[in-house]
Amino acid sequence: MNNQATTDTLNRKLAQTGLRSTRQREVVYNAILSKRDHPTADEIFARVKQDMPTISLATVYNCLDTLVHCDLVKQVHLERKSTRYCPNLSEHAHFHDNDSGEVYDIPLDSEIMDHLKKRLPENFNPSSINITIRGNTTDELKEAESSN
Ligand SMILES: [Zn+2]
Repeated sequence: MNNQATTDTLNRKLAQTGLRSTRQREVVYNAILSKRDHPTADEIFARVKQDMPTISLATVYNCLDTLVHCDLVKQVHLERKSTRYCPNLSEHAHFHDNDSGEVYDIPLDSEIMDHLKKRLPENFNPSSINITIRGNTTDELKEAESSN
């Protein structure tokens, strides 16, 4: 997504919620999009400070709350200690590498989601489904993939 498209998406989503875009909100959103590694608020704060040295952590938290509120980013809870932020709005599971701490998006097709919803009792109406897979990645697999 180029910068103009990002700004347009941000403006549109904020407007739908009756909010306006601010420079801070834009910088925070761009910081999450720039490297899709599911950063924590502290990591986002460190990135944003490079563009905007005067911004405070409290402002970053406020911006994050706004972005979550207008469905531009999702909160991801993988560890007890910190909330992470994900800008990928399509259905996906998270793979959490226990060794490196890295988080990977694993796309889920609508068939899988429908299948999961069918497992619920009829009167259960899910508003969101979060799937987290934990484990580790091995170098052997990476080598096998690259030789294919
Ligand atoms: Zn994600």
